[in-house]
Order: sequence, then structure tokens, then C-alpha cells
Amino acid sequence: MGRTGAAGSASGDSAVGIGRALTDEEADRLADLAAELHPAFTGASGAIATLNQCLVRHAAVPSLHGDPPRLAFHRPEADRVDAWAADAATSLAMVIGVGQGLRLRSCEANGCDLVFFDVTRNASRRFCGLPCQNRAKASAYRARRRG
Ligand SMILES: [Zn+2]
Repeated sequence: MGRTGAAGSASGDSAVGIGRALTDEEADRLADLAAELHPAFTGASGAIATLNQCLVRHAAVPSLHGDPPRLAFHRPEADRVDAWAADAATSLAMVIGVGQGLRLRSCEANGCDLVFFDVTRNASRRFCGLPCQNRAKASAYRARRRG
């Protein structure tokens, strides 16, 4: 999952321990989750099946949490990695399910693996942000000059 504007996010629910440092085990699980969800942003074959498996494995289910109640997509007793996974996978599924999956994009800059939701009018955004866009433009310019 990208650092900038990735679809899905933590619920903000204090019950899932936001604000506490990740353990190494949690960080490893989140890295695995990011790798698992990345194909949803590239349209890779099998991405939908993988997303469906992720929803099942992390027990994604609509649920009201807290007081006042807030909508989340994980069980109240889920650990925070399962909670984040269920919420993120549900968010991606909702985007794809309403026909906006092509707006889930992966940055096209070399060496960048960030993902984002493209909010441009014609769904033409190629880079996660200006630094990657500028690097790619400079690289293309140098390549043209070398001719
Ligand atoms: Zn980038």
C-alpha cells in the first residue's frame, strides 16, 4: 500500500490500537498485505480473486464500532492487522465494485511502487506525485537528447 492516497485505510478506531508502535510481526504481516493488495492497483490477472480471498481471510464484515458508533469493515475483536486488512480490502472492493477500478493506479516512475486513486477528470494520472513526475520527465528528456 502506498504512502500517498492509497485506497482504504485504518479505521481510526482506538480499539485496533492505532497510535501504538507496530511490532515486527505486525510490520511483516502488513508488508505481506501490501504485496497482496498491490495487484488491485495494476489490474494484474488474478487481482480480483486475490482480493476476494483477502476479504475472506481477514473476515471483512460491516460492523459498527465505538460510541458514537462508526462503520468499519472488520470484526470488533480483530487484531489491528486484520482490521486494517479487512478495511483496506473492503475499500478496494467497493471502488472496483462501482466500476472505478481503473482509477486504482500504480505509479509509473521507475523504482516507485506507490499506489493511488486517480481523481483526474479523464483518469490520466500516471505518477504518485510531482517528484516522480519530474524525475520521469527529466529522464525522458535526457533519453531524447541522447537520441
Ligand atoms: Zn511514484
